[in-house]
Parts: sequence; C-alpha cells; structure tokens
Amino acid sequence: MQSTTDLNLRSFVQYDEKSHFPIQNLPLGVFEEQGKKRVGVRIGDMVLDLALLERRGFFPSLPELFNTSTLNSFLAVGRPVWTEVRATVSRLLRDDEAELRDNIELRDKALIPVENITMHMPVAIGDYTDFYSSREHATNVGTMFRGKEDALMPNWLHLPVAYHGRSSSVVLSGTPIRRPKGQVQIGSQENPVFTASRYLDFELEMGFFIGPGSELGYPIPVNSASDHIFGMVLVNDWSARDIQKWEYQPLGPFNAKNFATSISPWVVPLDALEPFHCKGPEQSPRPLPYLQAGGDMAYDIKLEVYLQNSLISQSNFKFMYWNILQQLAHHTITGCNVNPGDMMASGTISAPEETGYGSLLELTWKGTKSLVLESGEQRKFLQDDDTVTFTGWCQGQGYRVGFGEVTGKIIPALE
Ligand code: MN
Repeated sequence: MQSTTDLNLRSFVQYDEKSHFPIQNLPLGVFEEQGKKRVGVRIGDMVLDLALLERRGFFPSLPELFNTSTLNSFLAVGRPVWTEVRATVSRLLRDDEAELRDNIELRDKALIPVENITMHMPVAIGDYTDFYSSREHATNVGTMFRGKEDALMPNWLHLPVAYHGRSSSVVLSGTPIRRPKGQVQIGSQENPVFTASRYLDFELEMGFFIGPGSELGYPIPVNSASDHIFGMVLVNDWSARDIQKWEYQPLGPFNAKNFATSISPWVVPLDALEPFHCKGPEQSPRPLPYLQAGGDMAYDIKLEVYLQNSLISQSNFKFMYWNILQQLAHHTITGCNVNPGDMMASGTISAPEETGYGSLLELTWKGTKSLVLESGEQRKFLQDDDTVTFTGWCQGQGYRVGFGEVTGKIIPALE
C-alpha cells in the first residue's frame, strides 16, 4: 500500500501548491451543514463528509464514529483505527482511484465546499495543560523579570514546566475575545486597582490532543507516548500581562490566562507530520531516563503571527526544547491519568531571533519599544478591535501540510 504521505499522491479534488490541505494532510474537524454537526476531513477547499461515508458502508469494521458533534469517540479508539480511516480516505480521494471520483451522485453529496459549512470545536476538551517548553521564551521572560543571570529557573533544563489550565474557556478560531478585567498593580503603588487589562497579549503556541487515555496510577512511558497522541492544532493562549505580574507568585498564572484560549478547527494527525520530523535542540544536561526519547522528535512547522494583517513574527515548532513525547511522559509520571480529548499546549514558541518571538511581551520587550504595523500604527500591547492571526505549515517539495489559521479579535471589556 502506498504511504498516505507520499509526495507523489494526487487528488481529483483540485488545489494549488500553497494549499494547507493537500491529500498528504487529511486533517479532521467538526462541521455543520444544513443544521447538522458531523465529522469531516478537509481536502483543498472542500470537506469530505465522513458521516455520510460511514452510512454508506465505507468503514464496515468500525463502530459509529463520525455522525457526532465531537472527535472524542474517534480519538478514544486509537492508532490502528486512525490509520485505517486515513488509508481509506486517502485512497478514496486519489485521482487514480475511480470509486469516489466516478460516482457523481456520492461525490456531490460527500464533498461540500467550505463556504457552505460552519466549523465547530473539534473536541470536547476535558483537561487542558499548558507547558512552557521554549527555552528562548523562558529565557526572554526570565531576563525581563529576574535579570540575565537567573533567566532560567534551576529546574527548567531538567523538566518540562507546565501548569493546569482551564478547558471551559478554550474557544474556536474566530470567537471574539473579551478584554478581561482584574487586579493589577500600577507603577510602584502598594495596593492593586481593579481595571480592564492594559497589557493584553497573545502567545504563539501549538497543542496536541490525547487519544486513548491512561489509567490512574500508571505513567505513560516516553517511548509509547505517541500512541496516545492523535494530532495537533494552532493555539493562541491569550494572556493579560498586568494581571499575570501581580498574581503569578507563588502558584503561576490564574486570571491572567483563564479568560480565553483559541484553537484552529482542523486537527492535523501526527501521521501527516511524519515526513517533517527533525532534530530538536541539544538537551544538556541529559534528561533523567524517564524523559529520554529516542529519535528526531521535533517537527519542522513554520509559524507566522499577523497583527492587523501585518506579519509581526516568524517562528518554528522545531525550536521547542521539550518535545511532545517528553511532555506527556512528564505529565503522567506521577500516575496522573489522561483522557481522550485532553489538550496539551506547548507554551509560547519563540525563535532565537527577535523577529521570531512568540508574544508581544517579548517583541516589544515589556512595552519598552513599539511595533510598527504596515498601516503606520504602533503597538505595545493589543488594543480593542485588534485581530491576531496565527498560521502554520510544513513545507514539502511542491506541497504544504498546513494547519490553516487561528484568529481572534479583541472586543472591549464589559462596562
Ligand atoms: Mn501559554
């Protein structure tokens, strides 16, 4: 059988070489058409309706997985089924396979133009954890708040630092983001004031979804962690820096992060990212044995940040110091269990160069300098009505495996 990531695969569905959704990608999402939500696969500017294919008997050996409003059942069944579904979909969409290509009746029903659908949250997220795994980001933030000498905390090179986040406020790309209010300390005043955040920021991140869960009391070994990870999305971990600065010690962020986190709608399978594995940063000191993952476990994913249509940052997922297998192994090492549909985010992904920093906090160095947008306007932090959009893709030879985008517009704080 031909690999589903072969660069020579072609689909009878047309798209150009900059499309994020060629036949080598096949991401899954939840879409609504004519008032009904179900699971689909994106190909070019079309969505393949998996619920319809399921009804027509294309997945005879599987339980019902796609006539539903979340990917959770599909996530729970695990890699053998993911691989089988991917192989079937890849075959059906090939230009040299007649079964779907020449069945006009089925094609017209099963392939729906994206302009005729609405996307929904792909997953009912149980738990959400946010890591802090970019050495560049941690060093920048540490330098700003503690000075160059103590930029990285002593634990940072030994474990992937994280906090337990809030899944209730994870929203789909396009959802407006309300400016939060909270306690902030202004200048050198001793007492805080209650105000709308004045230092609203984004964080350029990616997240992965847990497939089959684990049992309470049993860690997931680093070398089998990939069996528990289905795929990835773009994540914007919106952050209120003034609230964060006042509240974060000693337990980390709370109100500064819990008001909204945005994700992109299409979940790109790890299977589609296989050709884009690459070496991650050298890990020194050598991690403890439970964190030692063999092989090139980083991914070469180009990332871009746009503020009001101005490109303000270019980074790459390959800069992550701790990889996703190490993150999951560390998360569960205590016996903490995970469930299908849990989301783990990477933490802000900053490049070594300042043109690739993953937050305004870093790009404007705590607001000590301004970004100049294409319109000539300047920004230190986000203003009301600002729109922030991330995009990301792996560049193949003549094709892209992409994540689409995650976007959000800031709306004013409540009165
Ligand atoms: Mn974050």
